[in-house]
Amino acid sequence: MIQEIHRIREEALEALAAAQDEREIEAVAIRHLGRKGALTGFLRNIAKLPAAERAAAGKQANAAKKELEAAVQKARDGLQPKRPLQTERVDISLPGRRAAPGHTHPVSQVTQEICSILERMGFSVAEGPEVETDYYNFEALNVPKYHPARDMQDTFYISENIVLRTQTSPMQIRAMEQQAPPVAVIAPGKVFRCDSDLTHTPMFHQVEGLLVDENVSFADLKGTLTAFVHEMFDSDTALRFRPSFFPFTEPSAEVDILCVMCRGKGCRVCGQSGWLEILGSGMVHPNVFRSVGYDTGRFTGFAFGMGVERIAMLKYGIDDIRKFFNNDMRFLRQF
Ligand SMILES: [Zn+2]
Repeated sequence: MIQEIHRIREEALEALAAAQDEREIEAVAIRHLGRKGALTGFLRNIAKLPAAERAAAGKQANAAKKELEAAVQKARDGLQPKRPLQTERVDISLPGRRAAPGHTHPVSQVTQEICSILERMGFSVAEGPEVETDYYNFEALNVPKYHPARDMQDTFYISENIVLRTQTSPMQIRAMEQQAPPVAVIAPGKVFRCDSDLTHTPMFHQVEGLLVDENVSFADLKGTLTAFVHEMFDSDTALRFRPSFFPFTEPSAEVDILCVMCRGKGCRVCGQSGWLEILGSGMVHPNVFRSVGYDTGRFTGFAFGMGVERIAMLKYGIDDIRKFFNNDMRFLRQF
């Protein structure tokens, strides 16, 4: 009998020494000291022993039980980090930690600013699909298949006739299909091109503009865009219209503003030219009107498109377009 108690005690102490965490310690306690534990069972049956052995066995068993209980308690204590109350004291008068409120991303801010200036001039906002058919993205915009101008854009093709739109210009077609002139719409949104470096990202944002009515002339285009630039940048920002080419406008012009870095003296940012390109524009090509069934003898119009990130970079002097999408809070918090 004494040997049996000894064996239980040895086994329990060994298991306790090997226990790694609270769960294992409690398992040992239950196995040996619990109601169905080995030692408890032994004590319960002690009455059945011969009278001569009973007293000695009871004494031994109780001693083993006490020893094991103390050992279990010690093991439990060992798990608790010793932290005096002093270090746990909480200063309840300190202000709590607030969750930082989010704010609008700089690209969204600039998009909103562009749209709000143009909306005040009478343009209304239209939005359309980012996944486009070849027809809306190219064909209806006077860029037929095998047209060399398709080389100007690195297109993400989903299938032969489905693309991620490379420009917001498809919205010109969609807007004109839905209404007769006069039309005055702007279309902000994401566009996609297979390109990535300091000034290009595979996804960026554009705002497209289209105005169609009777007697719309290049002077209207110049006046509208000049007013826009003066609101977007400083009211004394110098700008120039430089002849260019786009398949969906004729004549076409790119708009430059005087370099915001060097004020026209010539620097690295403007490639020593003193000017920075900010948008493309032109008079709507008659072929574009024909694709939506507008009377080319009666209506004329102008269109323009600008890169939002590009405008934001010039407005805030940002030298790397990728900063907009790296989600570095130190950068984003400045806006
Ligand atoms: Zn410059």
